[in-house]
Amino acid sequence: MICLFGTPLPSWWANAPGRIVPLSNDSGSITRIDSGPILMNEALSLPKFHRMPPRFPPEPSLARAVLDGAGLTHRVITVTGQGIAKPANLLVPVGVALSEVLDYCGGLTDDAAKIFMGGPMMGNTVSNFDLPITKGISGITVLAESQLDRRPERPCLRCAKCVDHCPIKLNPTGIAHAVKLREFELARQLNLEACVECACCGYICPSRIPLVQYMRSGKAALRQIDLANKDKG
Ligand code: SF4
Ligand code: SF4
Repeated sequence: MICLFGTPLPSWWANAPGRIVPLSNDSGSITRIDSGPILMNEALSLPKFHRMPPRFPPEPSLARAVLDGAGLTHRVITVTGQGIAKPANLLVPVGVALSEVLDYCGGLTDDAAKIFMGGPMMGNTVSNFDLPITKGISGITVLAESQLDRRPERPCLRCAKCVDHCPIKLNPTGIAHAVKLREFELARQLNLEACVECACCGYICPSRIPLVQYMRSGKAALRQIDLANKDKG
């Protein structure tokens, strides 16, 4: 069942917060679909008749894809941060180069220091301005030097703040430790693959440990291990 904005919510929706979402299936990927509701952002789920601000034409959406067979050719993105001259919300064609978008927004400021595809917590830093805007990009964040925290990483304090703040109740410090030691199967047992890379753990860590980077590198290592095992048959 597809529920679009503006339609009455079905009764099971009210029970959605109590549902148990399986962490992973046999292939190791997350299967939220098994638990019933699927939450999508508005860029995908906006029906074609949704009224967007007048300067934006309605973008292709799930409704347009299902009803009209229209593909996703454009994306609304937010270009923001103190490092960009003229922050803006833009409707851009998928595939346009990052450099074109930055130029359109007046270019970088003199103290621009870091560019993220996405937000500063979940986004990836980029240095190649030729990279294209893909359909999964919701924004570009350009931080100025004054917005960066350059304090060095320090040893883990065992304060458990990362554990307390993980929205899916993982043990980020334990997983990061396993990844550092290249104990990837131990990290898998600690449900590394269920990590949604929200970066809350790294944000809250008083020791400035880049926990989400450990999550990402650990997941990449597990994918390599699984591929190698598959090749062996
Ligand atoms: S990045 Fe992963 S481990 Fe860290 S808080 Fe988010 S879900 Fe939990
Ligand atoms: S929040 Fe940082 S210092 Fe505290 S337990 Fe987690 S990794 Fe260690």
